[in-house]
Amino acid sequence: MRGRFAPTPSGPMHIGNASTALLAWLQARSAGGTFILRMEDVDTTRSRPELAELALADLRWLGLDWDEGPDVGGRRGPYTQSERMALYEEALAKLERAGSLYACFCSKAELAAVASAPHGLGSEGAVYPGTCRALTSERRSELSLRKRPSLRYAAGSQPVSFEDGVAGPQCFPPGAGGDFIVKRADGMISYQLAVVVDDAAMGVTDVLRGADLIDSTPRQLQLYEALGLRAPRFAHVPLMFGPDGSRLAKRNGGLSLAALRTAGASPEQVVGWLAAVSGLTDKPEPVRAAELIGQFRLGRVTSKDLRITDEMLQRLLS
Ligand code: GLU
Repeated sequence: MRGRFAPTPSGPMHIGNASTALLAWLQARSAGGTFILRMEDVDTTRSRPELAELALADLRWLGLDWDEGPDVGGRRGPYTQSERMALYEEALAKLERAGSLYACFCSKAELAAVASAPHGLGSEGAVYPGTCRALTSERRSELSLRKRPSLRYAAGSQPVSFEDGVAGPQCFPPGAGGDFIVKRADGMISYQLAVVVDDAAMGVTDVLRGADLIDSTPRQLQLYEALGLRAPRFAHVPLMFGPDGSRLAKRNGGLSLAALRTAGASPEQVVGWLAAVSGLTDKPEPVRAAELIGQFRLGRVTSKDLRITDEMLQRLLS
């Protein structure tokens, strides 16, 4: 068993991220598996090295450790995405040879117009209607003289289903998520491609992550298949919402681990609180992460999203 936690260093970790990290770590440790830490800084415009450092410090403060990672190394490194570009290019070349990609010349404005159309919204915004898939090769050559295209994966026509370790059986209709971008016009590799290449190359057998990514999974399963790679098992854990009802996000930084630490919370208090709200324990009593290993069962993790009340926060700090 090989599990992982893969933070994006674009903001300080909040308690929702900490909850995901704790659960992924407990899943690996309770199975006697290997736990990997991977820094997902493929989006260089949003990632900052000092936030990567802070994430490692936050995780250690919680009492988590890892067997392979950016700071400790390992056989399947490097463990920082910005150092793995050659692998992503290799995968792109393979997809290109298989005829699974096409160039997309749509402008941001055209894509924004799509976003306001009544299409389903996934984690990456509106579903792309496939405009550039049908371009003739003449038109494509003509456009490529004027503009750098992005590259899209031509989604398959089969439904995609999988069994989620927390959310249960999932079935997505054909083309759910549409033809998604694997490389942006500015050269940036997409999360969807990088995560598949990395999880496969690092031998990850179990992906446990936030439920905001559940609709990315059918896209990733298509990439696993197209690249001839073995897909891991998936478990998507519930998201946390703040007292005002908004989803905890790194950018609003409010419930960050760093802020809790400054406010005087101990790691045992935070871990005990996370264990209780995740469904692992009955009461939010202070506990060390390692003490939870023996009693961890994936089946106990709640599948319901959580709204954090002010009262719950008080308890965390008392
Ligand atoms: N890097 C992603 C994030 O921080 C997580 C990716 C994943 O777990 O697949 O949201």
